[in-house]
Amino acid sequence: MAIERTFSIIKPDATRRNLTGAINKKIEETGLHIVAQKRLHLTTDQAQKFYEVHKERPFYNDLVTFMTSGPVVVQVLEGENAVATYRDVMGATDPANADAGTIRAEYAEGIEANSVHGSDSQDNAEIEVDFFFSDIELVG
Ligand code: ADP
Ligand code: MG
Repeated sequence: MAIERTFSIIKPDATRRNLTGAINKKIEETGLHIVAQKRLHLTTDQAQKFYEVHKERPFYNDLVTFMTSGPVVVQVLEGENAVATYRDVMGATDPANADAGTIRAEYAEGIEANSVHGSDSQDNAEIEVDFFFSDIELVG
């Protein structure tokens, strides 16, 4: 298995409820290392660009409004099979379908306010990391 990096967002529903630490604990329990993180407020332009792939979906405008409704924590996670490892601990998009013990099963409020984002492929991970962390050198 290869050491990879993936990109994560702790979403506004989670920062609002002070769940950053609880979610980071779940991440670290998988063995992944949080090698960079910062808290910021996404602009509408950033949220629209980030979720551009969903532009034609009916929930796109609501999603952009939600993602800009409060601060987020953007992160780079590193470890074995990071993309798949993080997707596993996140759980399914809809928390009603998420396995017990996953972040979304334990913390998500609903299918939109589902507490976390994680890249869905190595290619997208690189694009998303670059989107938010092009300014710093990552130390693994
Ligand atoms: P994931 O975050 O699990 O990769 P998607 O890429 O399909 O899921 O969707 C991106 C985000 O859009 C989801 O995490 C969620 O916040 C929101 N979303 C997805 N499907 C819906 C839906 N049917 N209604 C409202 N919001 C949704
Ligand atoms: Mg996705």
